[in-house]
Amino acid sequence: MKCAIVAVGTELLFGHTVNTDAVFLSQQLNLMGIDVLYHYTVGDNPGRLSEILKLALSDCDLVITTGGTGPTQDDLTKEVICEVMGDALVEDSHSMERLIRHFERRQRPMTENNLKQAMMPSKAVVFDNDNGTAPGFALESNGKIVICLPGPPNELNPMFEDSVKPWLMNRSSEALYYRTIRTFGIGESMLETKLLPLIDGQTDPTLATYAKMGEATLRIASKRSTEEEARKAVEDMIKRVYEYVGDYIYSTDDESLPELVGRKLIEKNLTMSTAESCTGGMIAARMTDISGISAVFERGIVTYSNGAKMDELGVSGETLERYGAVSPQTAEEMVRGLQKKTGSRVCVSVTGIAGPGGGTPEKPVGLIYVGVMLDERMEVFELRTNNTKRQWNRNYTVLFALDKINRFIDEMGE
Ligand code: ATP
Repeated sequence: MKCAIVAVGTELLFGHTVNTDAVFLSQQLNLMGIDVLYHYTVGDNPGRLSEILKLALSDCDLVITTGGTGPTQDDLTKEVICEVMGDALVEDSHSMERLIRHFERRQRPMTENNLKQAMMPSKAVVFDNDNGTAPGFALESNGKIVICLPGPPNELNPMFEDSVKPWLMNRSSEALYYRTIRTFGIGESMLETKLLPLIDGQTDPTLATYAKMGEATLRIASKRSTEEEARKAVEDMIKRVYEYVGDYIYSTDDESLPELVGRKLIEKNLTMSTAESCTGGMIAARMTDISGISAVFERGIVTYSNGAKMDELGVSGETLERYGAVSPQTAEEMVRGLQKKTGSRVCVSVTGIAGPGGGTPEKPVGLIYVGVMLDERMEVFELRTNNTKRQWNRNYTVLFALDKINRFIDEMGE
């Protein structure tokens, strides 16, 4: 199915509002196997909107509009859709009831112009809006579909999830199944290069790689006549992907590294503590994002200065003097000191130069040491990011450390 997204709103053309609706819809439609061919943006002008709708419909089977569905004079999307699709607006009693109840619940008077929001094309399938007053709808005519959605993302996103997606899925004679494979330690272009024998000439399942802040993600999708067939095709392909890049894969279910590590810590009842210098508590922050982590996450200490590394973790002044704060020796003493202090089974230390300043030829920006301990096992890893961007280095180090912890957990056995 070929699709175009038409965003309506002069504020989008002024640059006052970023068109996040188009991003959201494209991602969602893509996951459903619907090809988005065009993004159009048009102001609140009925003539131009009508032209764009006709243009979009000339090439696509599905056009989704966003915005311009509210109560005000310039909200004309529905009227224009009716004109282009040959329908007329009529009062929708179900939407009218919901609208009246909406205002009653809030004890606010309903102004005359609000009534307009209960007017729907006579042949439309109406989608309720649980987070606002403007319903959405789907209207079909001559094999073409126009779906009209409200502009505010907090209204559009749930409406898409709850109503539009099931409606679209129901219409498709094919079943789509996909899995998102997460990798770490390999760039997107290298991932694609390694997988070329599988990607080349492959029409189903399809493989698509995406880059995401130091991680490369692979989406494997299949469209077959039954979900079972599609699932089998994807699972077989995952096995083949493992043969090529298995060492980099940490999740075949779109789980993030913090989620994955958090889940394993909880499942195995492994306590964890962190001692961070250049990441300033970011590992602890990512871990404590995870609900239920309090069962195992013991402590996160930010030991930024040399004094803090000595006071909190017992790093020796001599080590700091001789090798420097950014050294494998310091990372090791940090992680050992942390384990001694907390008794946590999983301990991690980070010390490095996040940049952009502070680098030297021997110790450049992006040189980071990560110490990892799981019970008696201890290893210090050296990371050289070759990047001078502070936030990037810090974010990447968090993933790097969590990837190492994940491997330690997998290798510990039962
Ligand atoms: P309402 O029911 O609030 O009147 P509407 O469907 O008429 O909604 P608009 O009036 O076009 O939508 O936009 C309302 C608000 O929704 C905008 O001010 C903006 O904050 C947000 N919005 C509209 N379109 C988009 C878009 N394409 N991407 C992100 N946000 C949007």
